[in-house]
Amino acid sequence: MSENEVRGVSPWREAIAVLNRHRFFPLYTLFALIWISTVLYYFGELVDVAGWEQLRWDFFYGVHDIQRLVFFIPIVFAGYFFRVKGALIVTFVSFVVFLPRAVMISPFPVPMLRVVLFAAIAGVMGFLTAVARNEYENRGRLERLVARERDNLLGILERMEDGVLIVGADYIIRFMNPSMVRDFGSGMNSYCYTHLHGFDEPCRGICRLPGVINGATERWEYTLPDGTTYEVVASPLLSADGETCQLAIFRNMTQRKKVEMELVEVSRLKSELLSNVSHELRSPLSSIKGIATSLLQKDITLDTGTTEMLLTGISEEVDRLASLVTNLLNMSKLEAGVWKPEKERCYIADIIDDVLERQKWVHQKHSLVADTEPGIPEIYADYSQMRQVLLNLVENATAYSEEGTQVRVAARTVDGTVHVSVTDQGVGIRRKDLERIFEKFYRGTEERARPGGTGLGLAICQAVVRAHGGRIWAESEIGHGSTFHFTVPVAPPAGKGKQVPDDQEDQSPGR
Ligand code: ADP
Repeated sequence: MSENEVRGVSPWREAIAVLNRHRFFPLYTLFALIWISTVLYYFGELVDVAGWEQLRWDFFYGVHDIQRLVFFIPIVFAGYFFRVKGALIVTFVSFVVFLPRAVMISPFPVPMLRVVLFAAIAGVMGFLTAVARNEYENRGRLERLVARERDNLLGILERMEDGVLIVGADYIIRFMNPSMVRDFGSGMNSYCYTHLHGFDEPCRGICRLPGVINGATERWEYTLPDGTTYEVVASPLLSADGETCQLAIFRNMTQRKKVEMELVEVSRLKSELLSNVSHELRSPLSSIKGIATSLLQKDITLDTGTTEMLLTGISEEVDRLASLVTNLLNMSKLEAGVWKPEKERCYIADIIDDVLERQKWVHQKHSLVADTEPGIPEIYADYSQMRQVLLNLVENATAYSEEGTQVRVAARTVDGTVHVSVTDQGVGIRRKDLERIFEKFYRGTEERARPGGTGLGLAICQAVVRAHGGRIWAESEIGHGSTFHFTVPVAPPAGKGKQVPDDQEDQSPGR
């Protein structure tokens, strides 16, 4: 077997390919064929003129229609290699070659008719050969183009980050790109309903395949049991072999959905904050207005005890307002990144005393207890920010616990940090709320939340503690109270802290 036969290429095709490769070879061959055909046609006359007695064969003296048939070869050859124009030119040349014989030599009646008839038939054959070759080549070109486009498309689909799935009308998976295989596992040649849904038959009620195969474009959402959500867009696709399939693009929407839900939540919390803030502002203002009106009434004489009670009421309401405004202001400063701690050496015990002293006066119905480790070291912190943290925690402790219960603020040294805890005996915090109470605007489960809070207090505490390099967390038991913990680093030994001016050490009360 020749090498060509082994490769499945016929020697005839190989010869044509060789002819095609050499630019002038077909032309020379054509000239040779015309020349040989002409010599054969006039062979009898040539022999007569040359006087070659021994070559006077009868075959060349009879009717020349037989010899004329040889001209089919150059005409078809020209049609194949030089297309329609070539076939027509060679047909005309043949006709010219036939003329001397028809006009001068042929002994038969109406010889021109046979010549014209032959030229017409041969011309049509050459023409058809040229047309067939053109068609053949066009088809080949078109097939190569389609194959290239298909390869390009497959290349694009392969590289797509979205999952791509092609399913035939028989529900069998024809193609899955690597992203699809990564998310759903390989399922080539299996039924889509089995591979994707684990069913034994097409998904009843939800399957869109028949509609898509009939030309519709469908869009739907597909959620896996683990919560991963895909947006699926399916449209018809005509495969290379003419079969209509469904091309489905799976876009992972989980992240976008999450962000959308968070945005909805943020917007809900913001509107809640707005209504809370307006309520928080309005209620102390109404109380103050009411008390002031009572105090101003000239016709009623108030005893000292009542006057003191009313004035205490005004003071409490003003404190409430001040705390709210401070929290709002601090949060906006934090968001703008301009609330940087101005650290100094200070004692946590001073801050605790400061806060409890103020709160004792405001929350007279709670027992506020300070429990500071003796000789506790200095911390390096922004005094007013730390005071705000403690104030928020103590205010929460009193707000979320019954009157008469204890709120205990303790401070200890633990592993080079000062550990502060605020413990109350209040309502406690649910486990699912515990994970979120430090988020901005988060206010715990509705029925427990103190009316009118803003959900900013703990977020501010967390931001401040983190800005000091500390940690904040909470522990709680429903019905038994909560403890909020935070840590602040101990101040470095005097002289080592770059920003600790010497004179500030003197200002700190010695302990
Ligand atoms: P606000 O108190 O204004 O709602 P915070 O940020 O201070 O906002 O607190 C967030 C949420 O944490 C509160 O709504 C409440 O549900 C819960 N919380 C905070 N401190 C306590 C506490 N000591 N006891 C019970 N729940 C608390």
